[in-house]
Amino acid sequence: MLWKFLQRIRFPIKPFIGISGYHQFCAGETVSDCFNASKTLASFNVFTALDYANEHAKTISDFDHNMHVILEAIAVAKNNRNYPFAVVKPSSLGSFELLEKKANGELISTSDKAAWEKLKNRFDSCATAAKHAGIILMIDAEESWIQPAVNELILPLVKSYNKTRVVIAITLQFYLKNTLSFYKTLVQDALTGHYFLGVKLVRGAYMEKERNRAYNLNLLSPVCDTKRETDNQYRMALKMTMRHLKNFICIIATHNEEDIAWVKANCKSNAIQLGNKNLWFSQLYGMRDFISFSLASEGANVVKYMPFGPLKQTIPYLTRRALENSAMKDQTKREREMIRMELKRRNVNV
Ligand SMILES: Cc1cc2nc3c(=O)[nH]c(=O)nc-3n(C[C@H](O)[C@H](O)[C@H](O)COP(=O)(O)OP(=O)(O)OC[C@H]3O[C@@H](n4cnc5c(N)ncnc54)[C@H](O)[C@@H]3O)c2cc1C
Repeated sequence: MLWKFLQRIRFPIKPFIGISGYHQFCAGETVSDCFNASKTLASFNVFTALDYANEHAKTISDFDHNMHVILEAIAVAKNNRNYPFAVVKPSSLGSFELLEKKANGELISTSDKAAWEKLKNRFDSCATAAKHAGIILMIDAEESWIQPAVNELILPLVKSYNKTRVVIAITLQFYLKNTLSFYKTLVQDALTGHYFLGVKLVRGAYMEKERNRAYNLNLLSPVCDTKRETDNQYRMALKMTMRHLKNFICIIATHNEEDIAWVKANCKSNAIQLGNKNLWFSQLYGMRDFISFSLASEGANVVKYMPFGPLKQTIPYLTRRALENSAMKDQTKREREMIRMELKRRNVNV
């Protein structure tokens, strides 16, 4: 609300951005603004997935613009080991309403159908560019009620682009009750269809929104009823992943230390190298750095999701992240305490 108010009265935000947390969680406004941060991370063997933060795409020109920024991020990644991945948020390339209509089987008008074809073309352009750049394109997962449409767009691309290596990685949210069975079907399909699967495993970021919507529409919530159930599903997904590492690439995108410890122990007991080329760990830029840097120093493959984008777009994005990630406040407090103790140990005055 404060952000919207400040924008309405045209308050000069830029000089005060330092106190907003922007620089802690965003590397800058453009792809080139991120170069220095990526270089620093890479010097510790922590790599970057440039993530164009966009919560506002509404018009065709927004979608085309977003695609060009993503293509720019992919072009930068070509021949640059700092960027093994690029990221696409589906609703940044086509309208949320269009995806929702498609998921409900409601694409009736000619203009809807034309918009859908354009959306498919935008995805195809990004996938082709990722293929030629030799990187992996990670597709974010969003709200469950648009996800069937996203799958309809992405899964055919996965089958055609991932024949010889993973070009497209999809995201699976294990707070959803049905994701584990969907994951099993996907694994089976990839094995029998002879293509490579790339999966990013997350718990899911839209819990409150999902529950509120289900409540308001008098539907059963698609999200697990308890954190323990989500945790169990996530752990089962990790177990399945570790069994199939030979056949696909997995990005374990979590800040949960118990899961990471479990994966490390599983690698050890099954003689899998922590640095296995198909196994990646991922955390958000500016968060849980002690996990990312420790993993990298132990030889694991680590990639930071690095949001960037104009202030107008990234502040709402960061606000959403903070609101959805209810544990963030405690985590940040703990991280600050850890940094304070380390500075004290090094005799640095703060
Ligand atoms: C690199 C990276 C990429 C990501 N990409 C995506 C993405 O594409 N799509 C997306 O949706 N999210 C994404 N996320 C966010 C992710 O889904 C989680 O919201 C976030 O990482 C917190 O979960 P955790 O596993 O790190 O930690 P934890 O703190 O162990 O788990 C918190 C999560 O558990 C679940 N949870 C909490 N309480 C309950 C409850 N009462 N009942 C049921 N479940 C509960 C929620 O999913 C919550 O976010 C990403 C996260 C990272 C680190």
